[in-house]
Amino acid sequence: MKDTESPDVRAERRAAPKPARIPSGDRLAYSPGEGPIYLDHNATTAPAPEVLREMLDALELAWANPSSTHAAGQRARRLLVDARARVAHFLGCQASELIFTSGATEANHMAVLGALRLTPQRRRLLLSAVEHPGLLALGERLSGEGFTVDLLPVDRQGRIDLQATAALIKSDVALVSVMGANNETGVLMPIPGLAELSHAAGALLHVDATQCPGKQPFDFATLGADLASVSAHKLRGPKGVGALLIKNGLTLPALFSGRQERQRRGGTENLPGIVGFAAACELAAATLGADISHMAALQQQLEAGLKTLAGTHIYGESVPRLPNTCCLRFGTLDSELVLNRLERAGVLASSGAACSAGGTQPSHVLLAMGESAAQARAGIRFSMGPGNTAEEIRELIAIVRRVVGPLLQEQAELLPA
Ligand code: PMP
Repeated sequence: MKDTESPDVRAERRAAPKPARIPSGDRLAYSPGEGPIYLDHNATTAPAPEVLREMLDALELAWANPSSTHAAGQRARRLLVDARARVAHFLGCQASELIFTSGATEANHMAVLGALRLTPQRRRLLLSAVEHPGLLALGERLSGEGFTVDLLPVDRQGRIDLQATAALIKSDVALVSVMGANNETGVLMPIPGLAELSHAAGALLHVDATQCPGKQPFDFATLGADLASVSAHKLRGPKGVGALLIKNGLTLPALFSGRQERQRRGGTENLPGIVGFAAACELAAATLGADISHMAALQQQLEAGLKTLAGTHIYGESVPRLPNTCCLRFGTLDSELVLNRLERAGVLASSGAACSAGGTQPSHVLLAMGESAAQARAGIRFSMGPGNTAEEIRELIAIVRRVVGPLLQEQAELLPA
């Protein structure tokens, strides 16, 4: 079809500037004061400029295959070794305990499927009822394949119930897999107690720690878990890269066969992603204490401001939580409605509820905490990052009063006293 094009026309067409791939309206500015107030950091974070710079360098200058024996490959390998040491240092593990993956979803799959294959005589898996949907879906798949999958209950605050766990852990359990901190509520799980119970029964413990690094001190050496999953994009790193941490001495069957990662995860390494992950870890480490105090102050400011609105209920308020997460509901106002109004006013947040053709599906996390379907459809999550400011939180509180206040009042008038 282009055969009729003359060489001149073709050259002109090639030289013409390409249209931008991302239309300007779709671009999300991430500096405070520019664009919307972004309060969805548990979903993902904007890559830090330092991360982008290191990634671009790796893409442009170190694109050789780290498995190649020539000098260019070996230079790429040195970057990989260096990045592994930087990430391991931040996460408190040995470099040999860290396998780079495509993210936490893959790391979770590798932990669960690997543990089940490692001890084939143990055919039971324990997950908490508030796990990430990806892990719960894997549990469902495995129960269809003949494994027994039990869901550990949580209390009204969203913490895994240790007594109920003790009753469920038996000698046929291969793995207990729980979150370090819940992505919807920010509630921290009792990992030391779970480690004790798991190990006493001869089971392995896997912690999906995706929400932890950068928001609380994280140290794999003292965590008590055998396995932990992390993801770079939750701490200003890129998407598509994460890691599974495996205690030295434990060998899990690989999910992807191949020679990379010492035969534990095949596939040419995502070097730019891995280098970006390392840069993000170093950035987080440099400011961790200050970031935690800053986000905790914002959390306090936000919750104190919103609590004065009658009908506001905050989840997990009385138990240890991540400093950046504020999960609440405004009466039983549907989260979709509230989020819509907030977005129109310039605030980006989210809910644990899933939207489907039939309307809003209640959050499985809030349901597990004993909330009714209407309450679980009303859950809203504001998750802050180190870049958010007290000014933004003041603005958010004012916006909520303006756009949610009247809806709450309307609802209160409609409901019987
Ligand atoms: N686990 C938890 C607790 C998460 O919050 C997420 C991300 N929403 C994941 C797993 C999946 O991580 P990834 O996007 O790296 O696959």
